[in-house]
Amino acid sequence: MSEQQYLFRADQRRRRKSRGTVIFLLLCLLVVLVFADSAVRLGNDGTSTTTEGQGLSNGKQFNGRQEAFLLAQKAEEYRAGHPFNGNYGAASYTLCYADGSQQRVPSPIAPGYDNTTDKTKPRNYTHSEQALYRWLQNQLAATSFDPQTLAGLYVIIFSQVGICDLCLSEMVSWQATLRQVAQTKALYLAIWEIQWGTPSAFSPTEQPKGTGTPVAIADLRRVTIRLTP
Ligand SMILES: [Zn+2]
Repeated sequence: MSEQQYLFRADQRRRRKSRGTVIFLLLCLLVVLVFADSAVRLGNDGTSTTTEGQGLSNGKQFNGRQEAFLLAQKAEEYRAGHPFNGNYGAASYTLCYADGSQQRVPSPIAPGYDNTTDKTKPRNYTHSEQALYRWLQNQLAATSFDPQTLAGLYVIIFSQVGICDLCLSEMVSWQATLRQVAQTKALYLAIWEIQWGTPSAFSPTEQPKGTGTPVAIADLRRVTIRLTP
């Protein structure tokens, strides 16, 4: 092999090598793009993630947003017949079984206002969420189910106005307590409210009858709480 031939072949090898590197990098980019795309899809599609307190039970889904919407409609309907310058809230719990069957138990409507009369109780004792939490504890203590067939127990608390800071700080432990009361770790709590600034939001002190605009499912917001396990 002449020196020229040798140099020519070495050059060819280098080119082949660099072409290989470019193809490898393009493949890497493709893989990253595919992953990024599916991550974005998962993030946008609320029904395919568990971020809204949803879970699969043998192919059947529990839809937390849909349940919060039912409670919101119920509270709105109640307000139309019972004008009130305070909040209305509602809760429910749904037992989802492995065979796909469900059992839903809604609470009565709970009015919420500041406690200014009973000095032995905190100011938020009379908030709707607190009343609903007490109702849930009583109900779940008396609820029996076969833990072998239970796929999930989904608890939703809904409020027409934003949850106050005092309640928010207390809610951190609510799921853990309800799990203890119901004697299952498969209990999932989610708190929902009407998002302030949306067409569905209103101030009960100014509009005790509501606004007359039907509550929209998209205007509901799941409150972010770092629940203790
Ligand atoms: Zn409160």
